[in-house]
Amino acid sequence: MIIGNSPKTTGLNFIEQIVEKDLAEGKNGGRLQTRFPPEPNGYLHIGHAKAICMDFGIAQKYGGVCNLRFDDTNPTKEDMEYMDSIREDIKWLGFEWGNEYYASDYFEQLWDFAVKLIKEGKAYIDEQSSEEIALQKGTPTRPGTESPYRNRPAEESLELFEKMNRGEVEEGKMVLRAKIDMANPNMHFRDPIIYRVVNHPHPRTGTKWKAYPMYDFAHGQSDYFEGVTHSLCTLEFVPHRPLYDLFVDWVKEGKDLDDNRPRQYEFNKLNLNYVLLSKRNLLVMVKEGLVDGWDDPRMPTLCGFRRRGYSPEGIRNFVSKIGYTTFDALNDFALLESAVREDLNDRATRVSAVLNPIKLIIDNYPKGQTEEMLAVNNPEHPEEGEHNITFSGELWIERDDFMEDAPKKYFRLTPGNEVRLKNAYIVKCGDCVKDENGNVVEVHCTYDPDSKSGMPGANRKVKGTIHWLSCEHSVPAEVRLYDRLWKVENPRDEMAAIREEKQCDALTAMQEMINPDSLQVLKNCYVEKFVAEHPEMKYMQFQRIGYFTFDKEANPEHLVFNRTVSLKDSWKKAGN
Ligand code: ATP
Ligand code: MG
Repeated sequence: MIIGNSPKTTGLNFIEQIVEKDLAEGKNGGRLQTRFPPEPNGYLHIGHAKAICMDFGIAQKYGGVCNLRFDDTNPTKEDMEYMDSIREDIKWLGFEWGNEYYASDYFEQLWDFAVKLIKEGKAYIDEQSSEEIALQKGTPTRPGTESPYRNRPAEESLELFEKMNRGEVEEGKMVLRAKIDMANPNMHFRDPIIYRVVNHPHPRTGTKWKAYPMYDFAHGQSDYFEGVTHSLCTLEFVPHRPLYDLFVDWVKEGKDLDDNRPRQYEFNKLNLNYVLLSKRNLLVMVKEGLVDGWDDPRMPTLCGFRRRGYSPEGIRNFVSKIGYTTFDALNDFALLESAVREDLNDRATRVSAVLNPIKLIIDNYPKGQTEEMLAVNNPEHPEEGEHNITFSGELWIERDDFMEDAPKKYFRLTPGNEVRLKNAYIVKCGDCVKDENGNVVEVHCTYDPDSKSGMPGANRKVKGTIHWLSCEHSVPAEVRLYDRLWKVENPRDEMAAIREEKQCDALTAMQEMINPDSLQVLKNCYVEKFVAEHPEMKYMQFQRIGYFTFDKEANPEHLVFNRTVSLKDSWKKAGN
């Protein structure tokens, strides 16, 4: 037994344990290199944040490097706009890549490799349709059937492969298949398709190529060409791993006899309740107008969360809380919210806003008088100081903070009751004024001039404290409140079930699951002037209400705020 030389594994996730062991054993010359390999076919979502935190985080932790590699092998779906957004989102999350690579950097090498395989009798051109090929695949327990083209001469395949790439072959008429084993229990070994024709210009290579490598033929080799040591991905790639290893064996053959090789490891995908991930689904939601673009604050995209006011630190904390395992799970969205709330509690500037206003008139406050009250910016960080908020005799308060006939334990404004106006005076509630429909439009009160916060003699305790804004000194605003986008707990599985049952498309299933009340717009709100004067503020707590941020549509004439998250977990309370 070796004592003192075995890697310490306590408190590490299973990938960290593997990495420590590999480094200790000197695999790949003691190097650690990872990659984050998004397909630029959409915007990144919270699931990608989990992959990013792993790929970049582990490289950071062990002094390795993580590169960004765009997996751009499918030109019909890919776009420069997506690449830009992916770079922006990774940086926003707080990570930096070493090099920026593209699978398309290797089209030449992959082509040469494919040609070599054809020459060696390890690949052939199949002229059957994809339906025919699928029918011959067999099942995991029944072997597949060999293609009639399987044993055609290499010269013929070579010539056809060239033709495919010159654009002389229609899409779907021919494919290149690796010749492996049609009876292998792993279906991925049953002569997988490795090249197909795509007649669509590529965002980077234009019209140079017409034959494009498939994911399985590009990924492992790209890892190998770049010197990736740990190729981390999600569990659905487990059955692909033997093929990944085989192609790496083939491409290494004769060139590199050392132990230098990438190895694939898989962890569980993030799946959150009431959230639908996968770019394919998100694209439908955007294209069909179920949401207002990729950065709609209800979207689970990183740009959506950013616009909604989530902090990158909050998202990273969430990812580290849920951890990495090898089992699929459904995580509670409340966990993400609580991680964000915890981070924003530390970060957010405390301000006042009234979302559903009624007027409070202080009958004994001198007409025309105002006072500047001191409001603490962030009690978690006294060094951040205070700001002024103007007080006067006519205030906005929340409609909820007044009740004409209140139950016993109601400690806010009700006739005869006293409350403290935060950072200001104690007031005693009097009568209210109603409109012709019986709605309260004005509440009257009197104040105690000796009760000013911070003054000697202000220690008198009352049970309730409410927030307020001076009518004359506050600024109108629009506030957007968001709720979950889906009515069902597991939209991914529910969508599959609906589609199966009704034989319908994704959109129809989505329309059935969507929550019609996921957005509530409040147009008649007020915020304190300080907020309007500081449009650069990213994270705010509207006291007693929740965390908010400026929406990108806000401008000095029209303030718009998004609710990031409420102060408490309201979903649970609502009986959901
Ligand atoms: P999508 O479902 O959005 O199409 P994908 O797996 O096709 O996702 P890619 O952009 O092709 O996404 O992959 C980038 C990386 O992000 C991959 O390593 C992939 O495994 C990982 N990834 C994608 N979705 C999740 C998720 N929900 N949880 C964790 N990792 C994910
Ligand atoms: Mg994908």
